[in-house]
Amino acid sequence: MGNTILILGAGWGGLTAAHALRGMLPPKHRIIVIEKGQSFVFYPSFLKVITGESEGLRYIESPLKNLMRKDLEILNEEVIQIDPVNKTVTTNTQTIRADYIVIALGAELYPEQISGFGEYCHNLFDTKGSFDIHQKLKDFSKGKIAFLITRTPFRCPPSPYEAAMLTDWFLREKGKRSEVEISIYTPEKLPMPSAGEQVGEALRQMLNAHNIKFYPEHVVTSIEEQKMIFSNNKEAKFDLLIGIPPHGAPKAIKDSGLINSSGYIPVHPQTMEILDNIEELTTKYPGVYAIGDSTGILLFNGKYLPKAGVFAEEEAHTVARNIVAQIKGEKSKASFNGQGVCYVDVGDNMAAEGSGDFYGYPDPIVRLQMPSKESRKAKHEFERIFEWWFTEYQNG
Ligand SMILES: Cc1cc2nc3c(=O)[nH]c(=O)nc-3n(C[C@H](O)[C@H](O)[C@H](O)COP(=O)(O)OP(=O)(O)OC[C@H]3O[C@@H](n4cnc5c(N)ncnc54)[C@H](O)[C@@H]3O)c2cc1C
Repeated sequence: MGNTILILGAGWGGLTAAHALRGMLPPKHRIIVIEKGQSFVFYPSFLKVITGESEGLRYIESPLKNLMRKDLEILNEEVIQIDPVNKTVTTNTQTIRADYIVIALGAELYPEQISGFGEYCHNLFDTKGSFDIHQKLKDFSKGKIAFLITRTPFRCPPSPYEAAMLTDWFLREKGKRSEVEISIYTPEKLPMPSAGEQVGEALRQMLNAHNIKFYPEHVVTSIEEQKMIFSNNKEAKFDLLIGIPPHGAPKAIKDSGLINSSGYIPVHPQTMEILDNIEELTTKYPGVYAIGDSTGILLFNGKYLPKAGVFAEEEAHTVARNIVAQIKGEKSKASFNGQGVCYVDVGDNMAAEGSGDFYGYPDPIVRLQMPSKESRKAKHEFERIFEWWFTEYQNG
């Protein structure tokens, strides 16, 4: 008899886990991926869309029907409830029992939590928002562009800073920068706080060099036409507002009682098993894992592991190896080590490589290299990895 492995979510983490498991397990074991959308959405492409570097939807959304592997079962259903004790998942149409569950539902965007966001702010983190931003930037030649981080944590901590520097580059290339003011408003003290002060300071200096104004410790309370209001009673005007809405765990995760005070699922930092006791690192739910943006992993410095695809990917490989070991009756020994690399776009066709060990004690050990054209090339290569999952890209 084979096992049934349920993977919830066909995003970066979920699809990595599905491919890794399918590559290691014979067909008698079922690998079922449950995804509410029709496509895999590759968020890093939003940054290329706003400046027109990527023009087509194909760079962002890949239909799941185009997956090369036909031996993964993809269910286009919405997860409603997860029962980690009985290992069942209820969707909008059925309840499925599994031997193993991998929760990879990502983080959900909650723009409605900020009054005026929907009306006056362009969402940097969705497909329509990124195309709309490009249209606005193409016609923009004078006035104030504001980038707004509404709440922390959010996906990919450097991304709004990258978006601002790419916007600066785009306008300079078009000869339209001189009468445009670019600013960033954020609740953070420094950019990317979980990577430590040195990295934050380096990024702040980069913003300075691009003549981008940085307004830290600004928590927006509401947005009106051409005006933001902050909790410190300050106000700021804008002509074009580009924002990141509040993030939170998806409703299905909250409704299943799986979150703790982090707002996300507490997991063992090395095995990704769901913890019932974060101090003792114990689990009541063997065989049930959570990976990627759905999780809250507390670091030694009291901050949380950033929400990034590189981590979701490594966590997915770790969980896949350990599930396979258990099925084969071997000792599970794969372990996620908190290390990752990312490439921060800074404009002028350059990127700065950031890499490090987020499980460092007492603080993460993260270094940001000087920007270079080679690092931007490496970023492009890194972003092509997912293309191998889909037939369209194999052929084109
Ligand atoms: C602009 C931008 C740039 C980025 N750049 C980088 C980068 O350079 N490097 C990097 O490492 N990371 C980057 N990231 C972050 C990265 O994209 C995320 O961390 C990563 O996608 C998280 O993977 P995940 O599998 O946890 O979640 P996701 O990729 O969000 O996948 C979750 C999936 O679950 C599905 N889902 C949710 N709820 C349900 C439900 N109830 N039922 C069924 N399905 C459901 C969703 O539709 C989605 O498909 C970037 C993010 C953004 C926004």
